[in-house]
Amino acid sequence: MKQIAILGSTGSIGRQAIDVITRHKDLYEAGLLTANDNWECLAKQALALEPDTVVIANKQHYTKLKEALSDKPIKVYAGSDAIDQAVSEGSIDIVLNAIVGFAGLSPTIHAVKANKTIALANKESLVVAGELINSLIGQYQSSIIPVDSEHSAIFQCLAGEFGNDIDKLILTASGGPFKDTPATDLAHVTKEQALRHPNWEMGAKITIDSATMMNKGFEVIEAKWLFGVGIEDIEVLVHPQSIVHSMVQFTDGAIKAQLGMPDMRIPIQYALSYPDRLESGFERLDFTRHPQLTFERPDMDKFRNLSLAYSAIRRGGNIPCALNAANETVVNAFLADRIGFTQMSDIIGHIIETIDHITMPTLDDYFETDRMARIKTTELIN
Ligand code: NDP
Repeated sequence: MKQIAILGSTGSIGRQAIDVITRHKDLYEAGLLTANDNWECLAKQALALEPDTVVIANKQHYTKLKEALSDKPIKVYAGSDAIDQAVSEGSIDIVLNAIVGFAGLSPTIHAVKANKTIALANKESLVVAGELINSLIGQYQSSIIPVDSEHSAIFQCLAGEFGNDIDKLILTASGGPFKDTPATDLAHVTKEQALRHPNWEMGAKITIDSATMMNKGFEVIEAKWLFGVGIEDIEVLVHPQSIVHSMVQFTDGAIKAQLGMPDMRIPIQYALSYPDRLESGFERLDFTRHPQLTFERPDMDKFRNLSLAYSAIRRGGNIPCALNAANETVVNAFLADRIGFTQMSDIIGHIIETIDHITMPTLDDYFETDRMARIKTTELIN
């Protein structure tokens, strides 16, 4: 029986992770559940799953959560530090990090240092501090299994290929809701339109990132750190059907792809069960219902965030961290109707151009870059 820590259990990935472990009660138990604000959902999940510990990051909700669980022998803590401590507990086997944004970084680092297996959905950890995390993984002998569907696909394609040279990784992208919108119309698209993703139901932040294609830029950075491949060897192809989740081309020209219905429970389950595959009742792909699988190059001039992400990782150091902080801040402002769709790229571009470049950042440097980039971005928004 494996004890799973589900960080961000109240979110889109977190809820699907609970669905997966509930289908395999003989194999998995929730040892830890965490949330930020949604204490009611967290309490409901805890009453159903009876984990050893729950943590609510926002301390204001501690008393209500504690009261709701007073009849159960469940430990209740509050604050981000408590999440960091709880993931390090000896009883936890796998830490599934499904927190959104920079807030996921510290728990990833604590899980790495506690020698855990990390099922990583929080791509921002690697976007911000991939280099540092990789060196800590080497030091502490922990491991990361990707949950992001594209990276899970690549991970699956690489199984059995140890030692074989990779020509390139091909990351597929749905293209989002504005794939066919003329570039000149993008300035006027609304958040309601941006939140309508054609293929995936996800949290608000990643849905906007998909609409701007920053999500794909983040995934390029994530792939670089996960698979040790140079940026020039990571290609993005728009594949609107979201059936081919990603591909690897090897040195002999052969390409392996992983396909399936767009259902995040498949990569979540694989990250928990790796290297085994477990049975699932999830919908099967019927090729006859998807006779056309199409691929095209992304329009980097229209989706400037994708170019900004390439530019940030080429410069390296703390620049991807600034990219992420600026992006989180502008996405919040866009969701609050404070700025328009294309202004997001204008502001992010300005931030990564003007932030002080640190080529070999420490963890403290990342926190300071994140803080400064958020302040500067907020000034530009105001
Ligand atoms: P959601 O917004 O749906 O959920 C985010 C979760 O994180 C919630 O449980 C939320 O708690 C918690 N959270 C938010 N802020 C904090 C904080 N400051 N401290 C601690 N916990 C916090 O996001 P998703 O599930 O969509 O995405 C989660 C991560 O997975 C992201 O990094 C995303 O990029 C990645 N991912 C998501 C996919 C998807 O299909 N959704 C696909 C691939 C990757 P509360 O509910 O209380 O606010």
